[in-house]
Amino acid sequence: MQSFANGSSSALLSEAATNLLVFLYSIPNESACEGCTQAYLGLERLTALKAVRELILASRILGSYRICALCRELRLCSTVRRLRSVLDTGRGRA
Ligand SMILES: [Zn+2]
Repeated sequence: MQSFANGSSSALLSEAATNLLVFLYSIPNESACEGCTQAYLGLERLTALKAVRELILASRILGSYRICALCRELRLCSTVRRLRSVLDTGRGRA
């Protein structure tokens, strides 16, 4: 019952956000820049940015500068956020 302990907001994602998350899980390093994300998902820029914002607010991805797995350029990338902090730090949420 604790598998979704990262937050109650993770259940309802838009279609674009869900597609983006699935896309990120499918590529090396689970990380892609804005340009590649739009190109691979066939999204308009605004739609892609909204999906990114939605996933960041839901604590599903992080935005950080790194080498994009697809175009190999150093860019601001969306990266899947792993749920490791509970085990690593032992910090509770309450
Ligand atoms: Zn890229």
